Parts: sequence; structure tokens; C-alpha cells
Amino acid sequence: LADEIARRVMPGGKVFFCNSGAEANETAVKAARKYFDGEKYEVISFLNSFHGRTLAMLGATGQAGYRDGFGPLPEGFLHAEYNFLAAVEDKIGSKTCAVIVEVIQGEGGVIPAERDFIRGLRKFCDENHILLIIDEIQTGMGRTGSFCGYEHYGITPDIVTMGKALGGGLPLAACIMNPKTASALKPGDHGSTFGGNPVCCAAALASVRMITPELLHEVESKGRHLMESLKGLSEEFERIRDIRGRGLMVGMELDMAGSELVKYLLEKGYIANCTRESVIRFLPPFIIEKEDIDGMVSAAAEYFREII
Ligand code: PLP
Repeated sequence: LADEIARRVMPGGKVFFCNSGAEANETAVKAARKYFDGEKYEVISFLNSFHGRTLAMLGATGQAGYRDGFGPLPEGFLHAEYNFLAAVEDKIGSKTCAVIVEVIQGEGGVIPAERDFIRGLRKFCDENHILLIIDEIQTGMGRTGSFCGYEHYGITPDIVTMGKALGGGLPLAACIMNPKTASALKPGDHGSTFGGNPVCCAAALASVRMITPELLHEVESKGRHLMESLKGLSEEFERIRDIRGRGLMVGMELDMAGSELVKYLLEKGYIANCTRESVIRFLPPFIIEKEDIDGMVSAAAEYFREII
């Protein structure tokens, strides 16, 4: 499984397996700090980001709602404005070891990173000799139409984290490191009792192998259909402010709370959820058919007609 993931994500890279996305991100931060022998330890993350619910990852997460009431949190996390390179330049200091970023902020309301931003971050990290960690826990495993979301930006990260769909429903996450970063972690520096257990790894290997170029093409074309259909809906109903995303990761921002629409869709048999109170997030399974997408969009149209 490690070979298969490294081949797709980072040829020559090394993979650490753990049980959850938060643990994969913890691994990434530990590796980055160890790479600089603990002398540099600050990590720049982004406002509105989500990186997990362990104490350190609450520190990285740039949304107060997840953090309030759980302090004190570990130090060393600075939050910069997303999609705004100058804000990152403002935060860097002599102790910065890494930047961690999602290429689409998922929990944060399905906000895609701009191309210049991610490419600029890569250049910024290179120029300042710090590591670029891409959190692909939500965007990986084909969700955006490529194996990992960062591929759309034509950059190579130093560390990538994956989870969620990786285990095909079983708990497995991974931290993939390029050789220079991986070499900082020596046996015994980090570990997990159940990390890399054979059952979850077998499920993950089967899942990863299912992500073929044909499947990615399907994700892309079904995603385009979903996005175009929702854009059509937004022309009809003023309460829809924005449609955005990539592949089968699509957000519909409303000018009102979205929870009633989520309930309405569920009653009709469609599962979506609501983030940031007003963003309906669609993350359908890749086996979804165009007819299901059309049915869901018609159900949403009925809802908007009812509330006008
Ligand atoms: N990072 C991102 C981008 C996520 O979306 C999530 C979960 O929603 C996590 C990290 C945390 O993953 P887990 O819940 O498996 O710890």
C-alpha cells in the first residue's frame, strides 16, 4: 500500500500509516519540526481551515468555533488569510518550519484555493527553506477529479496527508513525506499501535486501486454536470449566492441558513450537509448517476419554490 500511494503521490516518498486524519496531520507537523531539529517549530495555517480535533490540530484549525472551550492549545500555530499570499509573508519568522493548507477548504465552506495562491505558496516555501504540507484528507482519493487535489496546481508538496476515503470505510490515514523530510524521523520517533494494521491496509489497497484514470474522468464529468445544474438553479433562485468547487466536491452558498434545505433533501433521499451555516456541501459517492444528480437538483428547486 505504501508503494502504491507513494507511486501516485510522491515517487520515492515514505508513508506513515495511522488511524485518523488528525493523526496524519500531527505526524506531518512532528516530521516538519524534527526536520529542523526542533529549532524551528512554528506552522502557518489558514483562517477558516480545518485540520482535525486533537489539541494540536485544533491549534492549526483556523475556526474559533472548533477551538473555543478546549484551551490552552499547543503553541506554534499562526493563522493567515486564505488565498492571500501577502498575509503568509507577514506571518513568517525565524521559527517557521512549515505551511499547512487545504487546496479546497472543506469544513470551511468549500472554498477552492486560487491557482496563483498555491503556486505562490510553493515558491514562498522554497525561497524561505520551509516545508509545504498539503492536507488532502478531504480532497484526496479522486474527489476533485485527480488522485490528489494539489495536482491541479502543478506543484509538488513536501508532505501530503490523506484519510477519510483512503480506508474504503475502515479507519486508515497516511502521512506521505518526501525522502528529505522522511529521513528526519527515525524508528521509534513516532508510532501508533493500530497504524498500518493489515485489515485496514488491505481495504485501502483495494480502494486506491479502484482510482483509475477512467474513474477520475467520471468524477470530472459528473462533477461538471452537478456544478452546471446547480449554476442553472442559481440563475433561477436569488437565494443562491454562489456555486463553487471541483470534481465531486461542490458547495452551494445561500443567503440564509442551509439546515432546512439539508433536511428537505434528506426526506427526498438525498444526503448533503451544511457547513458554515449557509453552505450546502455536496460530496456524492463516485457511483452517483446523472439521473440522481438531476433528481437532487429538482428536489432543491422544489424547496426554493416552496419558500419563496
Ligand atoms: N483535515 C481535513 C481537511 C478534514 O476535512 C478532516 C475531517 O473532516 C480532518 C483533517 C480530520 O480528519 P479525522 O476526522 O479523520 O481526524
